[in-house]
This record gives sequence, C-alpha cells and structure tokens, in this order.
Amino acid sequence: MTRIIDGNEIADRITADLEPCLETLADAGTTPGLATVLMSDDGASETYVSMKRQACNDLGIESIHHELDPDAPADALFDRIDELNDDPAVHGILVQLPLPDHVDRQAVLERIDPRKDVDGFHPENVGRLVTGTPRFKPCTPHGIQKLLEAEGVETEGADVVVVGRSNIVGKPMANLLVQKSDTGNATVTVCHSRTDDLAAKTRDADVVVAAAGVPELIDGSMLSPGTTVIDVGVNRVDVSERRSEDSQTSSDQSDTEKGYELVGDVEFESAKEKADAITPVPGGVGPLTITMLLYNTIKAASLRADVDVSL
Ligand code: NDP
Repeated sequence: MTRIIDGNEIADRITADLEPCLETLADAGTTPGLATVLMSDDGASETYVSMKRQACNDLGIESIHHELDPDAPADALFDRIDELNDDPAVHGILVQLPLPDHVDRQAVLERIDPRKDVDGFHPENVGRLVTGTPRFKPCTPHGIQKLLEAEGVETEGADVVVVGRSNIVGKPMANLLVQKSDTGNATVTVCHSRTDDLAAKTRDADVVVAAAGVPELIDGSMLSPGTTVIDVGVNRVDVSERRSEDSQTSSDQSDTEKGYELVGDVEFESAKEKADAITPVPGGVGPLTITMLLYNTIKAASLRADVDVSL
C-alpha cells in the first residue's frame, strides 16, 4: 500500500515544535521579524509571499512587507535591502524570486546580510552548508530532509537521485543528503537537462527527488517498486492542455476555476503504483518550505539574541 505523504500534517508538527522557541525568545525580549520583499506583479509570487506572511502571523513572527515597482531601478532594491540589513527589528530577509530581468539576482542575494539570509542563498551560507557547518539550510531541501525523517525514510546508504541542479533546490538538496550526518550519508546522483537516460538513473534509485519544473517528467515506468518519490515541482498547467481527466492530480477546485491546475514533476497516478511513499502536489513539499522559513527566521533571531532555542 503506497503511503501518500501528508506534508501539511508534518509541517504542522514542526510548527508546533517552534512555539516553545518563540516563548524562550519572548522571555529574552525578542520577537523574530521576517521582512518580505516583492518586486514583481506575478500572481504566483504574490500568492507565495502572502502565504509566508500569513504563516508568520499565525505563529507570532512579525511580518514586515515591502513592495517595489517591477520597473524600478535595481538600486531601489539594493537600497531597500541595505535598510533592512540595518533594521534591528528585522531578523530575516526574503526577497521573493524571480526578479525582473534588469535586476542581477546573484548580486541581490549577496547584498543580504548573511546573518539575515533565511533563504540560505548567500554564498557564505552556501559554503557553510557544503562544508557541513550550516547556518541556514535552504528551506525546500531542509523541508524535504524533515519530511524524509518524519516518514522514517533511511538515507544512510540509500541511492538518491535528485532531478534538477538549481541553486535553490537541486544542489542544496544533494549537498544535504551527501553530508556525513544522521540525515545524510546517502549516495547522491544529480541529474539535469543534459543527463543521458534519466529513466535509467531514476530506476536505480531508492529515493527520487524531482525538482525540474517540467510537468509530469517522471512517470511510473521510470521508477522501481518501493521507491520513495518526493515531488518538488509546482507547475501551472492550462486546464485545456491537460491530456485527460483521468490523469488529473489533486489540484484543488479553485485552481481549476482559475483556468489552470497545479501539477508536479511526477505523473502521480502511475508513480503511485510503483512508489512505497510519494508526496502529492499540492500538499507535499510546499507546506514544509514555508515552515522551514519560519524555522530559519527563529534561528536567525536566536543567533542574534544569543539565546539557545535548540534548533
Ligand atoms: P530551475 O528551473 O531553476 O531548475 C530546474 C532544473 O531542472 C535545472 O537544473 C534543469 O537542468 C533541470 N531540468 C529541466 N528539464 C529537465 C529534464 N527534462 N530532465 C532533467 N532535468 C531537467 O527550477 P527550481 O529548482 O527553482 O524549481 C524546480 C521546481 O520546483 C519548479 O517547478 C518550482 O516551481 C518548484 N519549487 C517548488 C518549491 C516548493 O516549495 N514546493 C520551492 C522551490 C521550487 P539544467 O540545469 O541543465 O537547465
């Protein structure tokens, strides 16, 4: 019987564990603050930011929101980041990606004070991760690590195939899983668009993490029985382009009404037939990503206040 991994339930448990950390910080006179910066009028980005802000408010993290006109010069964003770097009420800074084409994304990520870089994308934090001394683990891979742990999926000695080599998901995921640690010790293969015979790689895997951003790239024929399948992909697919009603995943009705559906990088129905455990889209990895942002913001505040909250 295939386990459908409930990301919301795991995220709720981790969030509950964060509440005592906030109490410890409050006793020390600190309320963590997360600044979100949106420089886009893309609907999906707006939704992601509002979900993150809502999650902060629900838990008791101060949410400080800034919006910039997508046509504003890049310097406007750099100046805003400088202000947030200097603001003592701000413990974490999240600049929502993607950014407009005229803004150098890497320069933006490097402008953020690494001690406030709760996304974990600053080169200093990337370096710490790679060397096994992480400060902030990037939220999505960290969430996946928590999810595997919660599901009792053993990574030690496991063959893990990560599909995707982005700096946001694929590479940090591989780096976390290969670390010499209780939540690592895997043998990791990283695949990308130039990989020869992806199916041969995924069929050899005990765990597949799909983060390619290609709708339903991986189907059941590419998996061996017993695989754990983690679907990171969030792809908006035009409802009229869907191949058939039967292959629909668990997109909710409201999305369908908007004319699109959310589908993952995994063809859920056929993959479910092979997998031992599988994450749905939505409701799998996504909730963990937001929870680990809260986790990192609390960690940033605890590091600044020099209070041990055991994260
Ligand atoms: P990117 O577009 O930055 O990276 C995609 C990666 O997939 C690239 O390395 C690319 O290879 C590889 N790829 C593309 N096509 C193929 C293919 N046919 N076969 C093998 N590899 C391929 O995406 P992100 O890493 O930012 O995001 C990946 C997906 O995860 C997206 O759908 C995104 O929306 C989703 N996401 C979900 C999150 C969540 O919380 N659930 C959080 C973050 C992202 P190459 O390098 O050669 O181009």
